[in-house]
Amino acid sequence: HTSCGVIKCKAAVAWEPNKPLVIEDVEVAPPQANEVRIKIVATGMCHTDLYILFESMKKESFPMILGHEAAGIIESVGPGVTEFQPGDKVIPLFISQCRECRFCKSPKTNQCEKGWIETQHVLKDSRFTCKGKKIEQFAGTSTFSQYTVVNQMAVAKIDPSAPLDKVCLIGCGICTGYGAAVNTAKVEPGSTCAVFGLGAVGLAAVMGCKAAGAKKIFAVDINPEKFEKAKVFGATDFVNPKDYDKPISQVLAEMTNGGVDYSLECVGNVEVMRSALESCVKGWGISVVVGWTELHDVATRPVQLIAGRTWKGSMFGGFKGKDGVPEMVKAYLGKKLLVDEFITHNMTLDQVNDAIELMKHGKCIRTVLNPFPQ
Ligand code: NAD
Ligand code: ZN
Repeated sequence: HTSCGVIKCKAAVAWEPNKPLVIEDVEVAPPQANEVRIKIVATGMCHTDLYILFESMKKESFPMILGHEAAGIIESVGPGVTEFQPGDKVIPLFISQCRECRFCKSPKTNQCEKGWIETQHVLKDSRFTCKGKKIEQFAGTSTFSQYTVVNQMAVAKIDPSAPLDKVCLIGCGICTGYGAAVNTAKVEPGSTCAVFGLGAVGLAAVMGCKAAGAKKIFAVDINPEKFEKAKVFGATDFVNPKDYDKPISQVLAEMTNGGVDYSLECVGNVEVMRSALESCVKGWGISVVVGWTELHDVATRPVQLIAGRTWKGSMFGGFKGKDGVPEMVKAYLGKKLLVDEFITHNMTLDQVNDAIELMKHGKCIRTVLNPFPQ
């Protein structure tokens, strides 16, 4: 194996909930058995990073390094690693694919049971230390750092010609939304869809609905600044719930002769999840929960389901990462998938708190951070 000692580098450390991240010098230990150390070349910021920092605020998860949507280059590999070599271009995966557990062996799911996700937000046994303290690894990835160490079961090797400062977004937002439409909802040609929330996840869901042949795609957001972008990804109709004084499910039902065939919730709000389900037509409507929250229960009247609606959830768009991510990168290189259009801002890792502010205030789709500015 090739690893050669501890790397000292810069990372954005979340010392405690609800506080700005701090750029620190951290130590990244060499990869152990079956692990690889990755030089992060580009990382996006996703709303889930904000959720962990400002909403869920589980004290026991801090200090940690956030970030889970990135692309990089293998720097070194630990003992037993055969799949990767230094120099390989990769995307770290927040859902592992061990290929051995019963979930990996089933074509029905991407819920590998070997990853960090089973028990906690963070991988307790991380390779990061800072000022003598262990720093926890968010989502098994921690990409707001110049280097990170990841188990090889949670890394996808991608086409060496892929531009890392673009395809980093395939590491979360794009697969999550696109896959929720094509893999989880299984949108059919000619159907009518509604996507709630037009961040990168929702816009990718719009793109997935279009790719699946939907004929009408309602883009729903309380921030009308998002509608222009939604058009780029294929939305045909635009609805701002604030423009109506009746429930948005009723508005959509009236516009679609009883409701949409498919709806996707890409906000992370249990009230919106309910609206999205109830916007579906009875008989066959399918609603997919994509937005993330562990803080509240979700509810509806049973008759909504009894009447034939289906309520599903989707993590990482149902993609098994090692298989799906390289395919999505190929689709982008073959001009079959939009990626550049999601990027509204480019910044350096030092500016990570500015990127957080942009997202908090709905002023960006995706900011791509560069950990190694010239
Ligand atoms: P984002 O903040 O960029 O976008 C959210 C959008 O929702 C914004 O445009 C906002 O204006 C809109 N919105 C807020 N309240 C609304 C309401 N009441 N009705 C309609 N629209 C509303 O976030 P993002 O990065 O696109 O992430 C979206 C959600 O997906 C988050 O909850 C995130 O945690 C979740 N997520 C889930 C997975 C998964 O695997 N399931 C993966 C990544 C992200
Ligand atoms: Zn994400």
